[in-house]
Amino acid sequence: MNFKEPVAAALHSNLDGDDLKERPVDRLASFAKADRLGTLLWRLKYANDATCYTPALFLLVKEMEAERKDNFHFRQNCAKIALDEWLADKCISCLGSGEVMQESLPVPCPVCGGHAIVHYTDRDRARKLGITPDQAAKMSKRISNAQEIITNMDRKVNRTVAFNLEKI
Ligand SMILES: [Zn+2]
Repeated sequence: MNFKEPVAAALHSNLDGDDLKERPVDRLASFAKADRLGTLLWRLKYANDATCYTPALFLLVKEMEAERKDNFHFRQNCAKIALDEWLADKCISCLGSGEVMQESLPVPCPVCGGHAIVHYTDRDRARKLGITPDQAAKMSKRISNAQEIITNMDRKVNRTVAFNLEKI
């Protein structure tokens, strides 16, 4: 099961019990046991809490630091790009549905290939950031590193919530 929506709803709840077997307070207790970066990412993306952006970016840069030594600003820029792309990952062409209508029939979206997620290329980034494709290519590996951390954290929160809810 995917806990993104129930946890996001619980973050906006008043913690009163309801007649569901699993109460918002249980979900929040399980959620609180996840990694700090993971909970910040979930609050930021799935509960639209913009105040989590800066602390999430800070922890993301810190996670990257543990792997390699390089210029702090370069690392921070790469982390910011990865975070921004993760936050706006829905395909614009199909609005994140993975399908478009063709002669009144739904067909897989030709832009995202039906995955509903947009993948940015070095060329896209160069255009968006006003840098050369060469500069974008240099950032590519570090952006992938940050993306990997985000993806792993995102999955890990779901596993932690699932694991702790089972114990209730
Ligand atoms: Zn699409």
